[in-house]
Amino acid sequence: MIFSNLAEKLQDTFDKLRGKGKLNEKDVKAALKEVKMALLEADVNYKVVKKFINKIEERAVGKEVMESLTPGQHVIKIVNEEMQELMGGSKEEIAISSEPPTIIMMAGLQGSGKTTSAGKLARKFAKDGKKPLLVAGDVYRPAAIRQLQVLGERLEIPVFSMGDDSDPVDIARGSINYAASHNCDLIILDTAGRLHIDQEMMAELEEVKAAVEPDEILLVVDAMTGQDAVNVAKNFDQRLDINGVILTKMDGDARGGAALSIKAITGKPIKFAGTGEKLADLEEFHPDRMASRILGMGDVLSLIEKAEKSIDKEKAAALEEKLRKNEFTLEDFMEQMDQVRNMGPMDELLGMIPGIGEAKQLKNLQVDDKQLDHIEAIISSMTPGERRDPEVINGSRRKRIALGSGTSIQDVNRLLKQFKQTKKMMKQLNSGKMKKGGFKLPF
Ligand code: GDP
Repeated sequence: MIFSNLAEKLQDTFDKLRGKGKLNEKDVKAALKEVKMALLEADVNYKVVKKFINKIEERAVGKEVMESLTPGQHVIKIVNEEMQELMGGSKEEIAISSEPPTIIMMAGLQGSGKTTSAGKLARKFAKDGKKPLLVAGDVYRPAAIRQLQVLGERLEIPVFSMGDDSDPVDIARGSINYAASHNCDLIILDTAGRLHIDQEMMAELEEVKAAVEPDEILLVVDAMTGQDAVNVAKNFDQRLDINGVILTKMDGDARGGAALSIKAITGKPIKFAGTGEKLADLEEFHPDRMASRILGMGDVLSLIEKAEKSIDKEKAAALEEKLRKNEFTLEDFMEQMDQVRNMGPMDELLGMIPGIGEAKQLKNLQVDDKQLDHIEAIISSMTPGERRDPEVINGSRRKRIALGSGTSIQDVNRLLKQFKQTKKMMKQLNSGKMKKGGFKLPF
């Protein structure tokens, strides 16, 4: 999970603080020492950590905190505010030009996720009502052009290419005419990276920048490379004066050092976070929500946004009606499960719920997406009739379903039992007999 190592350590420290009624200077200093260690272990830049801790100490050892009724909470509030500030304060928007086309130039090293992020951005803008054009300007990495074309086909977004032996500047210039003749109002320009910072690459990017004067230069860096990502950002910014960063592979980054250092070191904000390989796995970077997630306060706003984006409202209304009439079937159940899964991996979703990070009994909870695969396989192995009326599923049918889904009869029995219980509960709920706190999801 994003930031999981850092989050766990900080939450342990804060648990100790909360447990104390009164705080003295020594308590706060001891806690801040732990915060400092946790940040350093998370690979946050040393200078950034030092400044961050000093700022918090200045605010936290005052009379106001020590004498407050909940000093522990007060310190946590200060850490939250400072962490938010460290990542840029508030969310930074993409500059959309008043005279189309808006040109977004992507830059970054090979393998950072530049081409994938170009596709993700195009998808996002198309969903927001824009008409994007993807431009295959990565003439250096073999297969980058084809990769972009495949993404474009999948997204039904046009891709402009001039092959891999054209000059990147000509490609960039050519894309503007192409956009005009194809009614595209936003150009996303993929560019050539290299394995390491390289003078030739920088010179090429500078030429492209000068030729098309992009509205936005977004640098793509890999979160898993920690402080290297920060150095890369610093170097690119010195040459290109970037507008912001897309931090990719945050799904695999349990430490969080790059996310917490980039703004402080380069002065440039992280605008988007890549959270997976799928095209939908791109989040706007909200420093306030990120800070909450790290400190275990949850991120309900992002969760709601994810739900709104992935849950079909009409289907939800139809489901509500079925629940009310107690006509909920295993087919509906599977559809519902699919919609929830569209929102992302379960452990990431759970991390957004306030308190989950703090609840000791849930700390080591591994929500196994495989379990959901099993449930899906079992329901898929049923006939439509069985899904609508599981009562007909006798012993031999159970055997067939287990065999067909690659599970065991016990797995099938468990699912059927849980489904039956859920239906019973729904019935009680509908007739108003539901006792407080008695509802449980069937998985
Ligand atoms: P480029 O050389 O910078 O254009 O890199 P690519 O776009 O080809 O990405 C390199 C690899 O990183 C590919 O396997 C992508 O699927 C993967 N990748 C990109 N972004 C993410 C992300 O946010 N999370 C994860 N897990 N993988 C990513």
